[in-house]
Amino acid sequence: MTTEPAPRLLDPVLPDVQMNLVKPTEPVIGRVVSNRNCMRGKSASFVRHIAIDVSGTPLEGTFHAGQAFGVVPPGTDEKGRAHKVRLYSIASPTSGEDGEGRILSTTCKRMIDEYQPQTPKDDQDRNDLVLGVCSNYLCDLKEGDEVLVTGPSGKRFILPAEPEAHDYLFLATGTGIAPFRGMLMDLFKGPDGPTQSQIHMVMGVGYTTDLLYDDEFRELAENHANFHYHTVISREIQPDGTKGGYIHHYLDRQVQLHESMLQSDRTLMYLCGLAGMQIGVFQLLAKLGLGTPYLKVKDELADVLPDDWTSQQIKRFVRPTHRCMLEVY
Ligand code: NAP
Repeated sequence: MTTEPAPRLLDPVLPDVQMNLVKPTEPVIGRVVSNRNCMRGKSASFVRHIAIDVSGTPLEGTFHAGQAFGVVPPGTDEKGRAHKVRLYSIASPTSGEDGEGRILSTTCKRMIDEYQPQTPKDDQDRNDLVLGVCSNYLCDLKEGDEVLVTGPSGKRFILPAEPEAHDYLFLATGTGIAPFRGMLMDLFKGPDGPTQSQIHMVMGVGYTTDLLYDDEFRELAENHANFHYHTVISREIQPDGTKGGYIHHYLDRQVQLHESMLQSDRTLMYLCGLAGMQIGVFQLLAKLGLGTPYLKVKDELADVLPDDWTSQQIKRFVRPTHRCMLEVY
């Protein structure tokens, strides 16, 4: 393990944002204004960009890029109880899709699976199709349809109050890209934009066709030299014959980013997507000796090499600092 450099921390000041203006027990009505596929190509999965008009509700003008909102699907669960609210990351900028804070959006992947017995008591012979209740409900909605919404929620996965004081490393797996779309629009197209900060966004997906909003991000990178769009394609073979791997493998290889971004006292790191991503990224930061600004590692792990950290140990003994924002599930 390399020695950690002395940290020169520049903690972000986060703005106050509004939360829970609409509670799950009293959802309000939004109306779908558009629903489109947002994947780069034909894929085995289906991800849609869904925009919802929340005019006249407490959500109008109050949500913030990086926050989430709730959707209450109609109907009841297998026990006959009304479905509970599900949270979705907001993919639109703080001013909404319309620039007036009336239309928010999200990035929704259809949950499609086969029944998997979870315990010995479950029917071991079942293999029927299982469709996620809320994701498929949302993805099926048509322009003009009503949808029950709540929120906003979340106060930490947002841009700082002084965005120009920082540079940004955005790390996303799959639909975890949603909040970064909104944040990038705030930074480049918002009232104080375009930002002069350096922004590196790394997007991890299985196949090139799974990339989300790829045309939007390419256009942004073409028009702004300070926005760097990196893609990591886990299941495709690279020119050197190896698989693309995960985001932490990519970061390990991008040595120039270690100095320009990870060692900079301006950098804030945001991770959104699969929970597994946090493990690889945390281990890598610690292994490179660059973890101190982003992680607090408790004494219990002092004598354990980062490569040997287990996911349980990371959950218990590694905490993000104020410079590392996490939204992983
Ligand atoms: P996915 O398609 O299953 O995976 C995206 C990419 O991540 C694939 O390349 C996958 O590789 C890779 N991956 C798998 N395990 C990884 C690991 N341990 N470290 C790094 N990369 C890994 O993603 P998805 O189905 O869109 O799921 C996105 C997840 O993000 C969901 O769990 C969703 O709940 C969560 N999410 C959270 C928020 C939030 O917290 N606000 C917002 C949006 C989404 P392989 O498939 O090749 O293994």
